[in-house]
Amino acid sequence: MRQIAIYGKGGIGKSTTTQNLTAGLAENNKNIMVVGCDPKADSTRLLLGGLHQETVLDTIRNGNIQVELQDLIKIGYKNIRCVESGGPEPGVGCAGRGIITAINMLENLGAYDDTLDYVFYDVLGDVVCGGFAMPIREGKAKEIYIVASGEMMALYAANNICKGIAKYALKGEVRLGGIICNSRNVDNEIDLLRAFSSEINSQLIYLIPRNNIVQHAELSRKTVIEYRSDSEQADEYRALAKAVDENDKFTIPKPIEAERLEKLLFEHGMMEVSGNYKI
Ligand code: ADP
Ligand code: MG
Repeated sequence: MRQIAIYGKGGIGKSTTTQNLTAGLAENNKNIMVVGCDPKADSTRLLLGGLHQETVLDTIRNGNIQVELQDLIKIGYKNIRCVESGGPEPGVGCAGRGIITAINMLENLGAYDDTLDYVFYDVLGDVVCGGFAMPIREGKAKEIYIVASGEMMALYAANNICKGIAKYALKGEVRLGGIICNSRNVDNEIDLLRAFSSEINSQLIYLIPRNNIVQHAELSRKTVIEYRSDSEQADEYRALAKAVDENDKFTIPKPIEAERLEKLLFEHGMMEVSGNYKI
């Protein structure tokens, strides 16, 4: 069983990418569980055709003491098992607590059974700390992918996440499997992402094009793979799934200095800028 954590800045496309990626893997008969580790609890919406009815924290809050696996896991697209850890009310308590509680409960109830090929954790946040580090602490998820784009803040967050990963990697077996670029159509994005990935001692594993079909699928509460199975974008997600399935490059990332990151952005961003806007 491969346990994979997906990190990246808020709004970068972690949940969209994770669900389309797992849909692609499920098409190839992989058995998968997706654990949403974001208080927004929308990590499995596209797989379930709507929001998960009850998060793990809701279930506990509602006083259900005889919790069973079927209370926590809902079955989604192609039998993907969907869990949402949930979180506290905004502004109350640490959101990371929900993740710790959820993973512990799943373990105690035997959710990690032998039939699973993959478990994915879709984790929010720009930094890997507290509860948000739970999936990679104690050797649960040994494999991490960071979703980023050519925008400065996305790379800044990716670099910060690498700092957290490096810390845990030195103590255990957790490794970075690569950077997934969810394109924002920034100038020279693929070159920039390749350069960034190699500077931090990793690889650009795939670049997903930006495409409005993603929004259309989202409005229909579906992954692109389910919504338009024959579209180019669906094939992009299938190719991402293949790249992850066949990946064998796992490294301890080496985060870079902020100045170096800015220099990379400058070098690649300035190459094609002239003529793109009027002064
Ligand atoms: P996160 O989970 O990182 O917070 P989401 O997966 O919720 O981010 O994505 C944020 C928004 O970006 C969503 O509304 C989604 O439709 C859109 N989006 C994600 N990936 C793409 C893409 N490749 N092309 C177009 N829109 C995208
Ligand atoms: Mg999300």
